[in-house]
Amino acid sequence: MSRVLIIGAGGVGSVVVHKCCQVPEIFSEIMLASRTREKCDAIAAQLPMAIQTARVDADQVDELVALMQSFKPDLCINVALPYQDLTIMDACLECGVNYLDTANYEPRDEAKFEYHWQWAYQERFKEAGLMALLGSGFDPGVTNVFTAWALKTQFDEIRELDIIDCNAGDHGQPFATNFNPEINIREVTAPARHWEDEQWVESPALSTSKDFDFPEGIGARKIYLMYHEELESLTRHIPGLEKARFWMTFSDNYLRHLKVLQNVGMTSIEPVDYNGQQIIPLQFLKALLPDPGSLGPLTHGRTCIGCLIKGIKDGREKEYYVYNICDHQQCYEEVGAQAVSYTTGVPAMIGAMLMLSGVWSGHGVFNMEQLDPAPFMEKLNLHGLPWKEVIS
Ligand code: NDP
Repeated sequence: MSRVLIIGAGGVGSVVVHKCCQVPEIFSEIMLASRTREKCDAIAAQLPMAIQTARVDADQVDELVALMQSFKPDLCINVALPYQDLTIMDACLECGVNYLDTANYEPRDEAKFEYHWQWAYQERFKEAGLMALLGSGFDPGVTNVFTAWALKTQFDEIRELDIIDCNAGDHGQPFATNFNPEINIREVTAPARHWEDEQWVESPALSTSKDFDFPEGIGARKIYLMYHEELESLTRHIPGLEKARFWMTFSDNYLRHLKVLQNVGMTSIEPVDYNGQQIIPLQFLKALLPDPGSLGPLTHGRTCIGCLIKGIKDGREKEYYVYNICDHQQCYEEVGAQAVSYTTGVPAMIGAMLMLSGVWSGHGVFNMEQLDPAPFMEKLNLHGLPWKEVIS
């Protein structure tokens, strides 16, 4: 029995609330709060159990504190935007509330996501006797757990890690992103960065690609090297890692639109003066693009996200691939969302469940790979994200 405050009523927030309602023995009291209360109420109307809703501006610590003091949650699940991570962590510390998120902090005026801002809260959470779980989505999230699971069950030492994220779905729109467009485009247009020989190697955005043959009929797709936040924590926490890379698939159509938008300056986060008003081109573009939440009924096909790992077991080289395949239409039928929101929202619920039931516990700030992967792997199979492994 516990009280959970979920902040953010977007695509991911909606899935988190739906999934929490499927486990009422853990999530007995739920509040969904976001900047636009109507969005919370619209989600609440779809649920099988009654929840509370509220309006909150999560950029304002005092508003968050007032809300937490009145609702008194045991845990706050932050599925608003990465810009709000630090204000929500501050409010959690002030009110004695545990914390969970799915994306690391990013300053609004610089497309640069790094863990150091949130790792700096380590001592304060420890002293307060609270736990903060960072990055409990799919990637980061399940990919960190997959890596920890591989180390626990398959390897004495992991040498190479390739995280490979494929969205083989199609929403039929000329151009749309599967999660918040602003965050997505900032991520995709940033320079690629991977870990090799104990240092970061940077290359221009989307300049390195190769074909990868995905399992279960998805087939060969082009994957592009990118930087992704879990590389930072995994290279710190997985000993002996010589190479770590993150890859993602993009359709030619998506890349063509992105190139044009970049060429005309629409993906910039530098403010421009327009008719005496300051506007940020990327934020204006977000207002024009389809709301990712609206893509649910339109999206067909599957996602396949997994980790391809090379390392040593009993003195011999070994390769291991662990992955999940998720069907967009099945997700829509279950919770009214496409698979990208679903694959993020389900791990957020599982991380919360493990914290609230005391299976994952500790004081301080944790990345997913620092905790025992076994209970999380078991829950993935039970709550809609079954995984498979290929050992060679
Ligand atoms: P959306 O844009 O659909 O939803 C974000 C929600 O947060 C909206 O309801 C928005 O309110 C609300 N919000 C924004 N600013 C504030 C604020 N200041 N105060 C209160 N609420 C606010 O995003 P998604 O649901 O697609 O993504 C949610 C999070 O999940 C993001 O941080 C994203 O990076 C992360 N993510 C993680 C993944 C992973 O695998 N780890 C994968 C995909 C996403 P409003 O509706 O009023 O704008």
